[in-house]
Amino acid sequence: MSHSDPNCLFCKIAGGNIPADIVYQDEHVLAFRDINPAAPEHLLIIPRRHIASLNELGPEDTTVAGRILQAAPAVAREAGIYDSGYRLVFNTGPDSLQSVFHIHGHLVGGRKMGWPPFPGGAVEHG
Ligand code: 5GP
Ligand code: ZN
Repeated sequence: MSHSDPNCLFCKIAGGNIPADIVYQDEHVLAFRDINPAAPEHLLIIPRRHIASLNELGPEDTTVAGRILQAAPAVAREAGIYDSGYRLVFNTGPDSLQSVFHIHGHLVGGRKMGWPPFPGGAVEHG
Protein backbone atom coordinates (compact mmCIF):
# COMPACT_ATOMS: atom_id res chain seq x y z
CA MET A 1 0.00 0.00 0.00
CA SER A 2 1.33 3.41 -0.98
CA HIS A 3 1.75 5.99 1.75
CA SER A 4 1.30 8.87 -0.67
CA ASP A 5 -1.26 9.54 -3.41
CA PRO A 6 0.13 11.68 -6.26
CA ASN A 7 -3.35 13.07 -6.97
CA CYS A 8 -4.08 14.03 -3.37
CA LEU A 9 -3.99 17.72 -2.47
CA PHE A 10 -2.88 17.18 1.12
CA CYS A 11 -0.19 14.66 0.08
CA LYS A 12 1.13 17.43 -2.18
CA ILE A 13 1.14 19.88 0.74
CA ALA A 14 2.84 17.27 2.97
CA GLY A 15 5.43 16.71 0.24
CA GLY A 16 6.11 20.42 -0.14
CA ASN A 17 4.78 20.47 -3.71
CA ILE A 18 1.97 22.92 -2.91
CA PRO A 19 2.65 25.79 -0.51
CA ALA A 20 0.77 26.11 2.76
CA ASP A 21 1.03 28.26 5.87
CA ILE A 22 2.48 25.51 8.06
CA VAL A 23 2.36 26.25 11.80
CA TYR A 24 3.53 22.89 13.18
CA GLN A 25 5.24 19.77 11.90
CA ASP A 26 6.92 16.67 13.20
CA GLU A 27 7.83 13.20 11.95
CA HIS A 28 4.22 12.03 11.68
CA VAL A 29 1.96 15.06 11.18
CA LEU A 30 1.79 18.63 9.98
CA ALA A 31 -0.64 21.47 10.57
CA PHE A 32 -1.36 24.43 8.34
CA ARG A 33 -3.92 27.21 8.04
CA ASP A 34 -7.16 26.43 6.20
CA ILE A 35 -7.35 28.43 2.96
CA ASN A 36 -11.01 29.29 3.65
CA PRO A 37 -11.21 29.78 7.42
CA ALA A 38 -14.49 29.10 9.20
CA ALA A 39 -13.30 30.71 12.45
CA PRO A 40 -10.70 33.35 13.43
CA GLU A 41 -8.24 30.47 13.87
CA HIS A 42 -8.71 27.46 11.58
CA LEU A 43 -5.91 24.95 11.17
CA LEU A 44 -5.87 21.54 9.55
CA ILE A 45 -3.88 18.73 11.18
CA ILE A 46 -2.95 15.92 8.80
CA PRO A 47 -0.81 12.79 8.89
CA ARG A 48 2.11 12.77 6.44
CA ARG A 49 0.95 9.39 5.12
CA HIS A 50 -2.16 9.16 2.98
CA ILE A 51 -5.25 7.92 4.83
CA ALA A 52 -8.51 8.89 3.10
CA SER A 53 -10.75 9.32 6.13
CA LEU A 54 -11.51 7.97 9.59
CA ASN A 55 -13.25 5.10 7.80
CA GLU A 56 -9.93 3.96 6.36
CA LEU A 57 -8.00 4.21 9.62
CA GLY A 58 -6.50 0.77 10.26
CA PRO A 59 -4.65 -0.93 13.11
CA GLU A 60 -1.35 0.08 11.47
CA ASP A 61 -2.39 3.73 11.90
CA THR A 62 -2.69 3.68 15.68
CA THR A 63 0.50 5.65 16.22
CA VAL A 64 -0.29 8.31 13.65
CA ALA A 65 -3.86 8.67 14.96
CA GLY A 66 -2.48 9.31 18.43
CA ARG A 67 0.04 11.78 17.02
CA ILE A 68 -2.73 13.81 15.36
CA LEU A 69 -4.48 14.16 18.72
CA GLN A 70 -1.26 14.89 20.57
CA ALA A 71 -0.36 17.58 18.03
CA ALA A 72 -3.63 19.44 18.68
CA PRO A 73 -2.53 21.27 21.86
CA ALA A 74 0.79 22.21 20.26
CA VAL A 75 -1.04 23.56 17.22
CA ALA A 76 -3.50 25.41 19.45
CA ARG A 77 -0.56 26.95 21.28
CA GLU A 78 0.95 28.13 18.00
CA ALA A 79 -2.43 29.65 17.06
CA GLY A 80 -2.74 31.37 20.45
CA ILE A 81 -5.92 29.51 21.44
CA TYR A 82 -4.51 26.92 23.85
CA ASP A 83 -6.10 28.61 26.87
CA SER A 84 -9.18 30.16 25.27
CA GLY A 85 -10.19 26.78 23.85
CA TYR A 86 -10.70 25.05 20.56
CA ARG A 87 -12.56 22.32 18.76
CA LEU A 88 -11.16 19.41 16.74
CA VAL A 89 -13.51 18.11 14.02
CA PHE A 90 -13.04 15.22 11.58
CA ASN A 91 -15.59 15.42 8.79
CA THR A 92 -16.18 11.91 7.48
CA GLY A 93 -18.29 10.97 4.48
CA PRO A 94 -21.04 12.68 2.47
CA ASP A 95 -23.33 13.97 5.25
CA SER A 96 -20.36 15.65 6.94
CA LEU A 97 -19.44 17.45 3.67
CA GLN A 98 -15.92 16.01 3.71
CA SER A 99 -14.33 17.38 0.53
CA VAL A 100 -10.65 16.41 0.78
CA PHE A 101 -10.06 12.68 1.14
CA HIS A 102 -6.86 12.78 3.14
CA ILE A 103 -7.79 12.59 6.79
CA HIS A 104 -7.59 15.94 8.57
CA GLY A 105 -8.67 17.37 11.87
CA HIS A 106 -10.09 20.88 11.69
CA LEU A 107 -8.81 22.74 14.74
CA VAL A 108 -10.96 25.83 15.15
CA GLY A 109 -11.10 28.55 17.77
CA GLY A 110 -10.60 32.22 18.48
CA ARG A 111 -14.28 32.86 19.06
CA LYS A 112 -17.06 31.58 21.27
CA MET A 113 -18.76 28.70 19.46
CA GLY A 114 -22.21 27.21 19.65
CA TRP A 115 -23.34 23.78 20.67
CA PRO A 116 -24.73 21.72 19.05
CA PRO A 117 -22.40 22.59 16.19
CA PHE A 118 -24.86 22.08 13.33
CA PRO A 119 -27.63 24.47 12.28
CA GLY A 120 -31.20 23.34 11.97
CA GLY A 121 -33.77 22.19 14.41
CA ALA A 122 -35.30 18.81 14.97
CA VAL A 123 -33.31 15.63 14.55
CA GLU A 124 -34.50 13.82 11.47
CA HIS A 125 -33.92 10.13 11.01
CA GLY A 126 -33.94 8.28 7.71
P1 5GP B 1 -13.34 19.01 4.53
O1 5GP B 1 -14.44 19.74 3.78
O2 5GP B 1 -12.79 17.86 3.70
O3 5GP B 1 -13.69 18.61 5.91
O4 5GP B 1 -12.17 20.07 4.71
C1 5GP B 1 -11.28 20.42 3.70
C2 5GP B 1 -10.72 21.78 4.04
O5 5GP B 1 -9.57 22.00 3.24
C3 5GP B 1 -11.67 22.93 3.78
O6 5GP B 1 -11.94 23.63 4.99
C4 5GP B 1 -10.93 23.79 2.75
O7 5GP B 1 -11.09 25.18 2.97
C5 5GP B 1 -9.49 23.36 2.94
N1 5GP B 1 -8.69 23.46 1.73
C6 5GP B 1 -9.03 23.05 0.48
N2 5GP B 1 -8.02 23.27 -0.38
C7 5GP B 1 -7.01 23.82 0.35
C8 5GP B 1 -5.68 24.26 0.00
O8 5GP B 1 -5.23 24.17 -1.15
N3 5GP B 1 -4.93 24.78 1.01
C9 5GP B 1 -5.39 24.87 2.29
N4 5GP B 1 -4.58 25.40 3.20
N5 5GP B 1 -6.63 24.46 2.65
C10 5GP B 1 -7.43 23.95 1.68
ZN1 ZN C 1 -3.17 12.22 0.68
